[in-house]
Amino acid sequence: MYDLVYAKKSGEALSGEAIAWWVRGVTNGTIPDEQSAALLMAICWRGMDAEETLALTLAMRDSGKIIDLSGVSGIKIDKHSTGGVGDKTTLVLGPIVACCGQDAGLSCAMLSGRGLGHTGGTVDKLASIPGMRVELSEAEFIDCLKKIGFANSSQTPDICPADRKLYALRDITATVESVPLITASVMSKKLAGGADALVLDIKRGSGAFMKNDADAQRLADSLHAVGKAQGIKVRALITPMDEPLGWAIGNALEVMESAEILRGEHQDSDLAKLSFRLSAEMLILGGVAKELDIANEMVSNSIKSGRALEKFKEFISFCGGDPAALDDFGRLPQAPEQVVIPSPCSGTIKSIDSRALGIFAMKLGAGRRDQSDIIDPGAGMRVHVKVGNFVEKGQPLFTVYCRNKSQIIDSEILEAVVFIPSRNQKIAPRY
Ligand code: URA
Repeated sequence: MYDLVYAKKSGEALSGEAIAWWVRGVTNGTIPDEQSAALLMAICWRGMDAEETLALTLAMRDSGKIIDLSGVSGIKIDKHSTGGVGDKTTLVLGPIVACCGQDAGLSCAMLSGRGLGHTGGTVDKLASIPGMRVELSEAEFIDCLKKIGFANSSQTPDICPADRKLYALRDITATVESVPLITASVMSKKLAGGADALVLDIKRGSGAFMKNDADAQRLADSLHAVGKAQGIKVRALITPMDEPLGWAIGNALEVMESAEILRGEHQDSDLAKLSFRLSAEMLILGGVAKELDIANEMVSNSIKSGRALEKFKEFISFCGGDPAALDDFGRLPQAPEQVVIPSPCSGTIKSIDSRALGIFAMKLGAGRRDQSDIIDPGAGMRVHVKVGNFVEKGQPLFTVYCRNKSQIIDSEILEAVVFIPSRNQKIAPRY
């Protein structure tokens, strides 16, 4: 291990065998964390070439179970987002892709994670629906894909255990933001999930790992290269994460917002636009639509006809959940207290720090500081404003949903918003 750390520190490329040996040692616990942490830091500084990145991805994929979806006919497509605040696109696009693709031989197969730190997890959002089972067995997952055309399940501990260990080390050693390490982490899980095609939503901006276009493009290229080498079709989109996506942050609130979009409300919102765009890309990559106009039309029809909402309900019923909760939000977990945070001044909103809001929501109980924390499904916040909006002093900026008002420190939440005093300031819309 010393030789590996020394070689990478000196800027040398590691062989595929050396990388596989390291990942096996991480998985079975025979390599001390401090040596792995040193190697991770050396990789962060020195990088990895395409061959090393592929070797790391495959070694991590092979550290656990690989799902075999060959029993499901047609193309199985997946989507991955590199993480954001308020990102509930999976809940919207899964049902849309299923109802547009099912008869054309396309199904949407997704293994999702639980939230950690400032970003939420799809599994926690779904788990806020009463009765919902989010850990399907492999047989149930396949059955769900065949029957509904969309399956989403929690990633079980036997899939990519090396990623779980390495991610925990990266989290505490400031080594998350590395293109080869993110590539291997994302693609190992996606390859283990068994899909044939993958649409990637690479976030760029203040709330994302990749802060600018150039870094986001480097990540897109790297993810694409691994997909290509493994024979899966990959399409990568770079999208902004400079403010929370949609109005909801917090698990039950995010289910409500997703249901509203599927019901045909808020169709011009950033969340709706991004979810529809990703759905359309999935239909194209999956061979259901030839071009974007046709795909957009299919997506729009699935909403207008109510079929996408019905599909989401079918999926919820399959998993033992209460589909009526999508019509009657009173059936979802509710926070006992609601507190409106008014604007301290008049002005145009210049920026909203989504990471800060994600951490605030986590402290309310909407997220986890570490893996063992218990989620409060009703906790979170409604964001009433978007970057570029003009607000008057006293106008609501946020509504906070919590167990106890003492959890709220106004200054913490207000620090996330930057105002420009004038009304005429032009800030370009982001979508
Ligand atoms: N998402 C992942 O799954 N892994 C990373 O390293 C970063 C984002």
